[in-house]
Amino acid sequence: MLKLFNTLSKKIEDFNPLTSEQVGLYTCGPTVYDFMHIGNLRTFLFSDTLYRVLSANGYKVKFIQNITDIDDKIIKKAKEENIPLSEITNKYTKFYFEDLKKLNITPADVYPKATEHVGKMAKYIEKLVEKGLAYVEEDGSVYFDISKFEDYGKLSGVEGRTLKTGTRILSRAARELRSSDEYNKDNIQDFALWKAVEADEKVGYDSPWGRGRPGWHIECSVMSQEYLGDTFDIHAGGVDLIFPHHENEIAQSEGYTGKKFVNFFLHGEHILVNGAKMSKSLKNFYTLKDLEKKGSDPMAYRYLVLTAHYRDKLNFTWESLQAASNALNKLREEIRGWPNVILNANKGSQDLDSSPLWGPSAQNDNYYQRFLDVLNNDLNTPQALAVLHEMISSNSPISNKAKSLLEMDKVLGLKLDEYLGKKLEIPERVKKLVEEREDARKQGNFEKSDELRKKIIELGFEIKDTPKGPKIT
Ligand SMILES: [Zn+2]
Repeated sequence: MLKLFNTLSKKIEDFNPLTSEQVGLYTCGPTVYDFMHIGNLRTFLFSDTLYRVLSANGYKVKFIQNITDIDDKIIKKAKEENIPLSEITNKYTKFYFEDLKKLNITPADVYPKATEHVGKMAKYIEKLVEKGLAYVEEDGSVYFDISKFEDYGKLSGVEGRTLKTGTRILSRAARELRSSDEYNKDNIQDFALWKAVEADEKVGYDSPWGRGRPGWHIECSVMSQEYLGDTFDIHAGGVDLIFPHHENEIAQSEGYTGKKFVNFFLHGEHILVNGAKMSKSLKNFYTLKDLEKKGSDPMAYRYLVLTAHYRDKLNFTWESLQAASNALNKLREEIRGWPNVILNANKGSQDLDSSPLWGPSAQNDNYYQRFLDVLNNDLNTPQALAVLHEMISSNSPISNKAKSLLEMDKVLGLKLDEYLGKKLEIPERVKKLVEEREDARKQGNFEKSDELRKKIIELGFEIKDTPKGPKIT
């Protein structure tokens, strides 16, 4: 039985899907105006693990993730660089998908874009106004009136109804704050559904209230419900989205339909870098490209993320990444030594069953079941890795181990099938580079040796210096 921690109830609950046919999963996607940092990527790795655990339990998952391609930050950047919005959003959407691929994150079934759903958002807002849940300001902006939605605060625990929102005469500063997509618990307030824009503003859409553009929160309500229905199973995201974003989504959606919006809200914790919160000003803000520049394999980052439970903070350091990389390489080396088999991702285990190499299949170990059990206990990936390592070093027949390993990796997503039984063949070109690097090191030319190491990594090999000389993995 799969159990998940539900932020709505603050409890671990049995997961029962709404229908037996499929599970609806929505994860808030990227705002495409910059590279994703490793904290964002941790959230996407967490929701990928969730997706894979649901699949391992036999559920068919319909997975939707939005692309926020209109927002304050994107507009600001487009103005600064004097280029169209789409030039920025197309560029960073492409980079986002590259990151997903490198990290072996399962693609969503649909990636709806905010800019392609503006008409639907306007209609949705109209209905909220009709229902008396939203009001139109003189300038043509539309706000959600949180005092009209009784359950406001049920996810995050903030108390919306105690707030006085009756007075509409606000200072300019208060107005700006209210129309911003991001604010914190100190200023719980009505939030913008539609933002009026000046006539000369390039980015804008016509609406019943004049020219404007949608706020951030409304896009997720509209797009999640369009693809998954009024009520769906799981909504995931980072903890920073609990308030205001997800709280506001609930208010909009439940206000609109009068039905429950989502059964399970799941939130992944932050990443820390050297014990501190990541921020550009502290210069501890890393992207996947930064990790790669240091010679790290993206799969090592995936492994590192799996070593922590998704509801625990993960402290990222270069040492912890190196340790993850070492553990992963050791695992790869170990399974390279297992007998070679021809596998393909779709029918891997069947091939093993019928392969004469593996002999009669013996189902006498229960590692896979234990692995799934710990994951079913609110996605306990550190324990799942522990079961994997225990299995690897056990004396079960290799045929059993290989079968379990491939099944486990469907959930872990570490691409271990690329290593299983595949002896390392080092091309002449790489061998030559390793020799050149050794020479450079002996001459004390570390700049050159670093250069050569990078080239070796680019060719898909890692080099480790041991007392017996360099070792290629
Ligand atoms: Zn969202």
